[in-house]
Amino acid sequence: MRARGGVVYLVGAGPGDPGLMTARSLELIASADAIFYDRLIPPGALDGAREDAELLYVGKSPDVPVVRGRYRSLTTGTSVPQEEINERLIEAARAGKSVVRLKGGDPFVFGRGGEEGEALRAADVEFEVVPGITAGVAASAYAGIPVTHRDEASAVAFVTGHEDPEKEESALDWEALARFPGTLVFYMGVKRLAANASALVDAGRDPEEPAAAIERGTMAGQRTVVATLATLGEAVEREGVGAPALIVVGPVVGRREELAWLERRPLHGRRVVVTRARAQASGLAATLRSLGAEVVELPAIRIEPRLESDEVRQAVESAGDYALVCLTSPNGVHLLFEALGAASLDARALSGATVAAIGPGTARELARHGIVADVVPERFVAEALVEALAGVDVAGRRALVARAAEARDVLPDALRERGAEVDVVALYETVREEPDAEAIEAAQSADYVTFTSSSTVRNLTEALGDRFPNGARVVSIGPVTSEAARACGLEVDVEAEHHDVDGLIAALLTDTASR
Ligand code: SAH
Repeated sequence: MRARGGVVYLVGAGPGDPGLMTARSLELIASADAIFYDRLIPPGALDGAREDAELLYVGKSPDVPVVRGRYRSLTTGTSVPQEEINERLIEAARAGKSVVRLKGGDPFVFGRGGEEGEALRAADVEFEVVPGITAGVAASAYAGIPVTHRDEASAVAFVTGHEDPEKEESALDWEALARFPGTLVFYMGVKRLAANASALVDAGRDPEEPAAAIERGTMAGQRTVVATLATLGEAVEREGVGAPALIVVGPVVGRREELAWLERRPLHGRRVVVTRARAQASGLAATLRSLGAEVVELPAIRIEPRLESDEVRQAVESAGDYALVCLTSPNGVHLLFEALGAASLDARALSGATVAAIGPGTARELARHGIVADVVPERFVAEALVEALAGVDVAGRRALVARAAEARDVLPDALRERGAEVDVVALYETVREEPDAEAIEAAQSADYVTFTSSSTVRNLTEALGDRFPNGARVVSIGPVTSEAARACGLEVDVEAEHHDVDGLIAALLTDTASR
């Protein structure tokens, strides 16, 4: 359901893992006119926002999460006063805008959503609340700690560990918390951990009770430190646990020994650099993350469409005359259809042609556009496509090879040799992407750098120079890429047997398992 004008949506963005955002939150983000957001929202949470949506950062820290390179920050010094946020929300809604107020976790769990709702009601502004997965539940689950358990905890309490220092008397009844028959989950409690733990022990809670601190729950690099109530303060200090972190106190913490699962994923604790163009990286990056890797996206190239050229226009005009159409990448497919579409044509323009895809990814993209590829070689290289086309009679007929500007000529040469009249059309160019400094820094301690094409190898090694992470193992998608890597002075540690993304991941998994 789209966001309605004049309404403020108090939306929970979940604890940090983008996959834990609700369907409703994504829908509202995609349709809102204005989005007011905090710092603790998942990376990429606003990627789906409308191009013309107003994005306003109103978080506490001046450290603004950059959203698609554009944002406007209301944070000048330390924090935007709550009253100002309320006023701005009211103002935007009164102007008829649909407004999303996006907060980490759940808006009504230590999120000041209640106060904002009250201010909106007082101003007679309509609002809706969209719950999110709160960190207390999510971080614990990712740490393998069930906050309730039939044998060990019949209740769970969410407690603030950081009280307003202005308050004269503590709102927390430490005796009641000490007696509480279940799990205690402290939010915002790292700084005051030692003081809070001793207050609990003084009030009668067992100092030997298991306790855990969970740092960056559900995010890349989640870390859990386990100790006892008496020793957790020290352990957290020693390990340098920082915000955001939660403290969990209770016998259920002991269940982690059995239930920890995050740390058991095959790529847990491995930092993997993905060098593909940003537009293509998401599949590889998501799979690596789901296997537990911490992914550093360091795109070395960018795809620049070249649909305005004469050769593209001519190819589109003669689309119906080709006996054979060869596509050598999913990008090529996507852009070919964009070019056809611009000329008011669709898949039927290729109805008379044999359509060949260089590999399964390209074939999948063709299928998305309504074409089942006639020829898909088993190995994902031009030579294999040439072989697979042996049975297709091209002598004296027209063939189209639609591809990137700077590709090898193996395929067109072979087709010409067999008498075809070949049009080679560059649908796009891959250009160097300047890597960002933060990603380069993060890549320094990488365990693996993955390469899926020769152009990524060349561009990345040139762009990084002596900042290439030499300690990382180099993973290549296939022999052509490996050769390019060696030509750039790299040693290739792992080469995929199947020359596609799945093959690359399989090779990486085999390598980690053996080390
Ligand atoms: N509304 C949020 C909580 C905001 S208070 C929710 O429902 O989750 C901020 C505190 O939440 C932090 O100080 C920390 O204690 C906790 N927190 C939020 N995200 C966290 C995360 N990913 N891992 C651990 N703790 C987190």
